[in-house]
Amino acid sequence: MLIEVGIIAIIVTGFFIEGARIAQNGADPGSFVGNWLAAQLATGGLPTVHRYLWWTHGLLALALIAYIPFSPLVHLVLAPANAGLDIPVPGPKMGVMDFEALEGEGEETPSLGVSKLGDFSRKNLLDIFTCLKCGRCHEVCPAAQTGKKLSPKGVMVTLAEYLQQGKMEDESLLDTITTDAIYNCTTCAACMEACPVAVNQPMPSSG
Ligand code: SF4
Ligand code: SF4
Repeated sequence: MLIEVGIIAIIVTGFFIEGARIAQNGADPGSFVGNWLAAQLATGGLPTVHRYLWWTHGLLALALIAYIPFSPLVHLVLAPANAGLDIPVPGPKMGVMDFEALEGEGEETPSLGVSKLGDFSRKNLLDIFTCLKCGRCHEVCPAAQTGKKLSPKGVMVTLAEYLQQGKMEDESLLDTITTDAIYNCTTCAACMEACPVAVNQPMPSSG
């Protein structure tokens, strides 16, 4: 609501600035709204009105830009960044587990896959930030649509909640999502095809 009101206010003040300018400098062919507004404006005190409108318009525009990181508008930046960093190959980008390399890791228990946010790659975390929670992935997921215990959107929402709460090392993540849900994934990649912001839902170990 705040964003919509802000954008409308910027557009309206912009038209009034144009009207005030045209009222002083003469008609501007093609500026239909500005020409009409100029005809409605009284001629007295126009330079002052123009100056105040100009400042109001400018400050509103700057305030909206400053608000971008704290609002859904941040997706204007995140979505192209996430799409640009996407791996240009079709299908789920789950990487390959190198079991031979793991065998050489010595006494330490080898770690496979992910169990907490701290195991995810930076690209995985960007995917989580970028998700719009639009639900398109849920609508095309064969598991979700056949009543299985998996919703790719649900998984993204849970991941986003953990990320927002800074639970990077919280291993309750897997219990919250449930292994049942994970194993219902067929890795068909329909969710990835439908995602408008290039999220890689079957994300772990995509690197
Ligand atoms: S389709 Fe993409 S943006 Fe929409 S909910 Fe699913 S992961 Fe998020
Ligand atoms: S890859 Fe998995 S989560 Fe995505 S649509 Fe297919 S079954 Fe659903």
